[in-house]
Amino acid sequence: MELVALFVAGLAIGSFLNVCIYRVPRRMSVLSPSSHCPACKTSIPARQNIPVLSFLLLKRKCGHCGAVIHWRYPLVELLGGALLLLSYLEFGFSFALFFYYAFVCALVVVTFIDQELRVIPDRINLSFMLIGLGGSVLSQLRVVSGLGVEVIPSVLGIVIGGGSLTLVAYLYLKVSGVEGMGGGDVKLAAMIGAFLGWKAVLLVIFIAALGGSILGLALVLIFRMSRRTPIPFGSFMAPAGIVVLFYQDSLLELFSALSSARAG
Ligand SMILES: [Zn+2]
Repeated sequence: MELVALFVAGLAIGSFLNVCIYRVPRRMSVLSPSSHCPACKTSIPARQNIPVLSFLLLKRKCGHCGAVIHWRYPLVELLGGALLLLSYLEFGFSFALFFYYAFVCALVVVTFIDQELRVIPDRINLSFMLIGLGGSVLSQLRVVSGLGVEVIPSVLGIVIGGGSLTLVAYLYLKVSGVEGMGGGDVKLAAMIGAFLGWKAVLLVIFIAALGGSILGLALVLIFRMSRRTPIPFGSFMAPAGIVVLFYQDSLLELFSALSSARAG
């Protein structure tokens, strides 16, 4: 029962994340005005603003003008719900739940903004970098328990995360001849490093590069897209950050098993 309540709360939070995805890069307030249709600007009445359900009942259309609603809306709502459940199962009712769920929400928002607009707003990167660092200070001072990272690994996470991504961006430019990554990606790596520490952020960059290369290759081979089509690297790094937060240990085991299998 409490899991159902949590999931529903997560859906509502996901609905707020949709507002952030649309408004933050457009420099609009996320608090007012209330939700409105991006096409006709009519504000959406509460009974038509129920996560997922309204999307299905209204057959993917705005109830006023009939404009098609993007599939992203129900997807982000479901992610909000599913990730709140996952965070609860991992951290229980604790400070860590709020801390890491906020981090996960920021990463969901970043994923979709970068995927759509190829930018990652400083407002998100810099404020969450401070939140991650602040959490590591509280954890070090034993004010809160259950956070996986202390001050030194967090600071190193910012430096090494940002530094390695600068290197990756440089290599990518050398190899492909196009500027595929920008300052937003570097700051995102630093932000993820602040939350997860320097070891985990390297794992995040590795997984994102692997995922990005596989998708990039598929786009070139299957869809005959130009090799020069820039890939929004942040929209790989942010989901990789979520995966590493929850499955870091299993991933490290997997990689060490793979490398020892190859060595043997
Ligand atoms: Zn409309």
